[in-house]
Amino acid sequence: MSDATHGYIARRSCGCIVGAAVDIPRNGAEIGRWVKDGLALERKTVAEVRAALSEPTAMRCPHLRSDSLLVTPASVRVVQPTLFDPQGRKVQKS
Ligand SMILES: [Zn+2]
Repeated sequence: MSDATHGYIARRSCGCIVGAAVDIPRNGAEIGRWVKDGLALERKTVAEVRAALSEPTAMRCPHLRSDSLLVTPASVRVVQPTLFDPQGRKVQKS
């Protein structure tokens, strides 16, 4: 159980959100991978994280394929999009 009030979204260099998670210890490893992948993390409230996921390209970056020849392999690895609510349940983007 957690009473997380904040989370992170991860953006690729193109600006698209490719990951989101609330800030609870269970998500720490994945959030760490996002940093290693060179994604830009933004700390937001959980409500702001949810709002960000309504962006048209959130979790469906259209640039992954077209960028693939221009960037390093590590930076094009598709990040598994994950969002956990404060109770630790996976949240699906609607
Ligand atoms: Zn993109």
